[in-house]
Amino acid sequence: MALKIMILGANGFIGSALTGAILRERDWEVYGIDLTDNKLGELPRDERFHFVEGDITINKEWVEYHVKKCDVVVPLVAIANPAQYVTHPLRVFELDFEANLAVVRHCVKYGKRLVFPSTSEIYGMSPDAVLDEETSPLVYGPINKQRWIYAASKQMLDRVIYAYGVRDSLDYTLFRPFNFIGPNLDNIEEPKEGSSRVFTQFLSNVLHRRPFKLVDGGRQKRSFTFIDDAVECLLTILENRNGRATRRIFNIGNPDNCVSIRELAERTIRIAQEFPELRAAAKATEITEVSAGEYYGKYYQDIQVRVPAIEAAKRDLGWQPHTDLDTAIRRTIDFYVKLGSFDPLNAAASGL
Ligand code: UDP
Repeated sequence: MALKIMILGANGFIGSALTGAILRERDWEVYGIDLTDNKLGELPRDERFHFVEGDITINKEWVEYHVKKCDVVVPLVAIANPAQYVTHPLRVFELDFEANLAVVRHCVKYGKRLVFPSTSEIYGMSPDAVLDEETSPLVYGPINKQRWIYAASKQMLDRVIYAYGVRDSLDYTLFRPFNFIGPNLDNIEEPKEGSSRVFTQFLSNVLHRRPFKLVDGGRQKRSFTFIDDAVECLLTILENRNGRATRRIFNIGNPDNCVSIRELAERTIRIAQEFPELRAAAKATEITEVSAGEYYGKYYQDIQVRVPAIEAAKRDLGWQPHTDLDTAIRRTIDFYVKLGSFDPLNAAASGL
């Protein structure tokens, strides 16, 4: 029988890419909910995709009913943007922790498999050069650095899910995304500074002809992972052949794409120039520096380097990423160019 997958947040960056891949590459049914459908394109027309517009914090009965009805639950509704951890910490807690805890409990109650997004942020300022799912310490800053409310919320959920696994044999997989990038990550037409994650912020800056701002000089490093590679891993986890992903934690990341934010800025400018629509704007883009305090405010604290160990996913899921950073950048820019985000009219519409 074809699997029935429930995706909360089906219109999000990961949710929309995952839904598309399931409908293209598998014969499974998808039951999805999200606030809106702007990233889904033609997908809701597919007869195997049952989508409703709704809010999981309001449409609670829909959620519980569908947990009961489906085989696997993938709760992707969360705020996952560092700029918002410092501006809306309680909203992060209420949505990322409280709303998701209710879904986790439904999975326990109805004996359903749960594929839950943990986060690479969970490692915090871990001293380990390469971050391991089973052994790396999780290290956060003081309470007055509100940034950590996201990592702390996610850590608590990881622990709760783990405990349900031990006590009630909950069938779960925790996955930890490492800076996924790709089409639909954020709305780059949004002119507000800090409304996107770093790579899409840079694209937005090119569009709005603003300088890139490197926080504290851009020496921090991240391992950027192309969304298609990540989705391939998620399909394997959902498939869960021989139960190999059950009660396991997997980093999903690309250690070969570990670069400093300065390097990311330089590559973005170089690759953007390959596109005629962007050449002039990209060429004129300046790279400036800003302190973390100025950019994010006093509640922020940065993570200096984040490299995933991916041996577990390689060994036990037979997965590995294969998209290099330049290709990931190029394919993402190409997506936004085709979407028309860089058309002069759109720039004008968003106030420039
Ligand atoms: N950053 C930056 N300029 C920007 C936005 C972000 O230098 O315009 C830095 C930020 O301080 C962090 C890194 O880029 O060190 C990645 O930020 P992002 O918001 O993408 O998420 P994170 O990897 O920290 O979760």
